Amino acid sequence: MFAFDRIPNPTLGMAGLEAQLSEEERAIQEVAHRFAEEVMRPIGRKLDHMTPDEVVAAGSPLWDYVRQMKEIGLLDLQAVGAMSSEQKARMLPLIFEELGWGDPGLAIFSLATAFPAFAAYMSGDPELIDRFGNGIGCWVGTQPDRGSDLGDIQATQVHPGTKQGRGNLFAKVVGDEVVITGQCSAWVSGAPVATSGFVFCQCDYGDGLWNDQGGLNYIAALVPFDKGVTKGKPLDKIGQRPLPQGEIYFNDVVIPKKYVIAGQDTAHGAFFGALTFANMEMALTFTGVARAAFEHALAYAHERKQGGTQLINHQSVRARLFDMWRKVESARAIAHRVVNYNYGPNGPHVLGSITSKTYVTQAAFEVANEALQMFGGNGLTKEYPLEKIFRDARAALIEDGENNLLSLVGGSWLSTWYKQQHGL
Ligand SMILES: Cc1cc2nc3c(=O)[nH]c(=O)nc-3n(C[C@H](O)[C@H](O)[C@H](O)COP(=O)(O)OP(=O)(O)OC[C@H]3O[C@@H](n4cnc5c(N)ncnc54)[C@H](O)[C@@H]3O)c2cc1C
Repeated sequence: MFAFDRIPNPTLGMAGLEAQLSEEERAIQEVAHRFAEEVMRPIGRKLDHMTPDEVVAAGSPLWDYVRQMKEIGLLDLQAVGAMSSEQKARMLPLIFEELGWGDPGLAIFSLATAFPAFAAYMSGDPELIDRFGNGIGCWVGTQPDRGSDLGDIQATQVHPGTKQGRGNLFAKVVGDEVVITGQCSAWVSGAPVATSGFVFCQCDYGDGLWNDQGGLNYIAALVPFDKGVTKGKPLDKIGQRPLPQGEIYFNDVVIPKKYVIAGQDTAHGAFFGALTFANMEMALTFTGVARAAFEHALAYAHERKQGGTQLINHQSVRARLFDMWRKVESARAIAHRVVNYNYGPNGPHVLGSITSKTYVTQAAFEVANEALQMFGGNGLTKEYPLEKIFRDARAALIEDGENNLLSLVGGSWLSTWYKQQHGL
């Protein structure tokens, strides 16, 4: 058992119940935290008050953020790519939690806009790396008529006797080229400012859109936006306002077959991989959002006086704060567990990432809600930070797959696993 000479105060790290970080890990965490505090929070607050058109205009603070993020190199793809799986499993949680703590809209902007570059580096093809390895991109997945249906790529949640719709964005393979026509949803992160996309859409390989199982054929390809692309108006929304989003229209855009990252047999796997990675990062990022809300509530409870004393001196307030703390800690625990699983010998799998994404974003929303309540009326005003955190956390319940739909997909994977175990 544990023995103490005297009863100590708890020793907590920046991210709560930290066991032990190496010197390098602590240094990275501190750099990320400073960047989150000194760059992301002030810029995020400014952008939050601006119109979507102002956010993407030349001279917007968004570009200041982009420049400073590049300079600091926290998400440098080559540096991350050079890490071992074990290093990634330890470093990525530290970095993403701080970025989420700073501003989740900007954190997701950096993640989503790196998708084409990420795919190019993963391909190992110097031509693709040269063409797509830099600059601002986006991940084009959802379409006006294919939101949750995209998240349910294996069509496990289709109502009996029906099938998923055909959607609004199509590719056709013609000789050595691919022609892309149609539009994506208004939700594509970074779209208004992106110069390329990692596009995932339905594809006719010469024998129609539908495959033998009644599902759709897909393609995943890198697409430059310099010809045949127009864009909709940047979307106006309640949360993560620093993250610009919007529609992209593809007017018979022609790309060489070389830009195809995954074709008829591998495109489903490419989507599976993208969702596995993105849901995992969402969980890490929104752990930071939950922590930010908790920290604000803890500080406010020590300042605000009601009932003759600071709020913290009321027993019920201490219980409410402890409940928030517990949620932050359990959110972080599941987020880290899934990163370890995904980079470990049994992973990666979307079941893990869905588990942490749905759990953490729900926890972040609840903690933000409870923290706002702790601020009383002040929590509702734009002079205090809680209302923005609340709005940002709310968006995460839908972002990167709506949580109820993801839970259905997760439940189906559990059943698949059970049936396999029992030979059913
Ligand atoms: C902040 C943010 C960032 C985003 N970034 C991107 C991006 O970068 N790229 C991109 O492509 N997309 C992006 N999206 C889109 C996002 O993935 C979709 O919004 C999400 O998948 C839900 O789709 P939908 O909005 O069309 O809702 P719908 O699919 O219309 O869902 C509406 C409701 O119906 C329910 N429902 C749907 N299907 C079923 C079913 N089979 N069974 C039971 N209930 C069901 C859902 O649970 C939901 O409550 C982003 C969204 C947000 C909010």
